[in-house]
Parts: sequence; C-alpha cells; structure tokens
Amino acid sequence: MFSALIIFLLVLIALKFAFSTWLEALNMGCVKEHSSEVPEAFRAFMDAGTYKKGVAYTLEKTKFGVVEDAWSSLVLAAVLVSGLLPGMFDLGIKIFGNSVWAQALTMLLMGVVFSIFSLPFELWSQFVIEEKFGFNKGSFGLWVADKLKELAVSFVLGIPILALLIWLFETIGDGWWIWGFAAFAAFQILMIIIYPRFIMPLFNKLEPLPEGELKTSLFNLADRGGFAARTILVMDGSKRSSHSNAFFTGFGKFRKIVLFDTLLQQLNPNELEAVLAHEIGHYKKGHIVKMILFSLFEMFAIFAVMGLLSKSAWFYESFGFRADSGFVPILFMVSICAGLFGFWLTPLSNALSRRYEYQADAFAAKLCSAKSLSEALRKLHKKNLGNLTPHKLYSAFHYSHPTLLEREEAMFESEKQK
Ligand code: ZN
Repeated sequence: MFSALIIFLLVLIALKFAFSTWLEALNMGCVKEHSSEVPEAFRAFMDAGTYKKGVAYTLEKTKFGVVEDAWSSLVLAAVLVSGLLPGMFDLGIKIFGNSVWAQALTMLLMGVVFSIFSLPFELWSQFVIEEKFGFNKGSFGLWVADKLKELAVSFVLGIPILALLIWLFETIGDGWWIWGFAAFAAFQILMIIIYPRFIMPLFNKLEPLPEGELKTSLFNLADRGGFAARTILVMDGSKRSSHSNAFFTGFGKFRKIVLFDTLLQQLNPNELEAVLAHEIGHYKKGHIVKMILFSLFEMFAIFAVMGLLSKSAWFYESFGFRADSGFVPILFMVSICAGLFGFWLTPLSNALSRRYEYQADAFAAKLCSAKSLSEALRKLHKKNLGNLTPHKLYSAFHYSHPTLLEREEAMFESEKQK
C-alpha cells in the first residue's frame, strides 16, 4: 500500500484543488453577476462591446484554468503513487552512471519528462484561447523554437548548478544544506544579472528607445525620478502576443526598465511617462532588493527542510527510493511538492506585492500625475481585457496587483497629500 507520506500528499493535492476551484467558482459568480451591463464605475472608459468581450475572456480562461488544475493534480497524484520517479532515477543512473554530472543529467531529464504533461495546455491556451480573443501573434514554429531554446538554456545553466549541489551534498556531509543554499543564492543573484543580458535576447529583440521626442521626454522623467543609469529598452513582445507590459529587471548597476513595443503603440506619451514613473518607483523604493531578500529567505527555509529530509531514510523509502540515493530524489520530490505547501502562502506574497504596487503608484502620481497614470491603467485594462470585477477573496488570494478601482482610489488620495 501507499506510505503515510504519499497519503498525506494526496490529501494536500485534493485540498488545494478543492479550495482553488471554489475560489474560481466564487470569482466566476462575481464576474457573471456584473456581466449584464458595464458597471457605473467603468462607464467613463469602457464600451459595452469590449466589456462583454472581457467578461467572456475571463470566464473562458477560468474554466480552462480549472481543467488544467485538475489535470496537473491528477498527474502529480499518479506520479506519486505509480513509482515512476524511482524507476526513472534508477534507469538514469544505470545508463549515465553515478557521477555528479550523470546525476545532474538524470535530474534534468526527469524534469523534462514531468513537464511534457503540461505542454498540451500551453498550446491550447495560446493557440485556442489567446487566438480567439485576438491576442496570439506567434506561430507554431516560433512556439516550438521557444521550447527548444528553453530546453537548451535549462541544460546549459541547470547542469552545472545541479552538479555543484550534488557535489556539496556528497562531500560535506551534515551541514551540506548551508553551503548548498549559499551556492544556490549566489547562482540566483548571478542569474538576475545574466538573464536580461544573455537569456532574454535569445527570445526577444531588446533595443534602446529610438531617438526622438518620446525618448527625450522619458529620459527627462528618468532624471527627475532619480533613475540615473537610465537604461530603457524596448522589447518586441508583439511577435508573440498583443498583451502589453512594462517591467523592471536587475539591480544596482545592472538595472534596466523594459517596455513592450505593444505598450508604446497603445499609450500616448503622457501615459507612457506615468508607467515609466511607476517602474522607477519600484526601483527608488527598493522593492527589487526586498523581493530578492524575500526569495532568498524562502530558499533558505527550503534548503533547511532538505537538510532535514536528507538524513531521513523514511523520506526516501516513502516514495520508493533507496535510502542511499543521494541528493536528486530529495530535490526532485521537494520541487514537485513545494507548490502543495507554497500555494497556501500565495496570499502573503501577493499582499506584499500589492503594497509595493501602491507605493510605486504613489511615487508615479507625485512625479507625473495620478490622472495620467489612471488613464494609462484604464487603457491597459481595456486592451488586455483585464477582469474589472474580481471577487474580493479571489483578488486578495491571487492578485499581485490591486484592482483598477483600488489603485485609482489610492493614487488620487496620495496625490491630495503631495
Ligand atoms: Zn508595478
């Protein structure tokens, strides 16, 4: 029969699915309730046709999300009870050997097999749902090329760091996890620098803002906002999707603001300034560094748990691994099951993220105006068909950004105080 640990994890899978589906149903109910006409608060910028399309988009994505969640829950449960993983691990070791490099390769290949199960859903999401609502701009060929590149990147970066972790595990003994954490943290920080420079360009063209009025006005704003390194790049997001976005990457000397080309097409210069000011706000308020520290803390906890589990034969045997199988089974089991625990912490990290969004909005309202930021956000909601009427509990749990209404209310309030 199944071990107590597997039964416990099966219960967690069921609980997570049940709770998450209940939240989705609650949210769908709320969206449907407001679907007959455009709510008063949005009439100033939202026409009935777009609103209806937005409702349909939210409902379709929600239903799809529930099916996807059911599937991934089933896959995880099946993988746990079938003994597939110990079988694959043994096979990998038999074929490639037991060196740190061979174990790292085995671990990555197990990860690749596990990720194949979600591919049909990725395809459906992009080529059926996004296509239907006019967002998909990518071809199937581009999608395949992306997947192959992702795979190559995960091998080039993944094998060395995995090999290092396995080596630390085998060499150091009891305190391996502290060194493992240190190595992984260093790798993460290196990635924050490497990613925008070497990885993002594999997938997208990133170019400096073209010379002209817009560049002058945005750079003036960056000056006023105290964003001294002033790297503002434009990314060709339009080759995959017409969704638009802007984001901040890197830290310290490596900081960069990236604007999607779709954003440049959708917003006027005033609105773009407000969006840029919001991103500068994230930088000035130290959000990036705080988020990095937060995730390092999380990682430390995970390594401590792995340190504990690695001493327990029970943990290995519960999943059907031999107790002397080393680091790979620990890391693999912890990574595929981490979501079962982490899911319940999402409202915490999202609450923190929403706090930062309010702060960045207040910064932007001061540097530009609440009016131009609100106009930018309204346009982006409209263009991206964002859900305007989420259920309160749903947005508290899942939203990394406050809702449009919450943001507008807060930014006009903060402007009054300036
Ligand atoms: Zn933000």
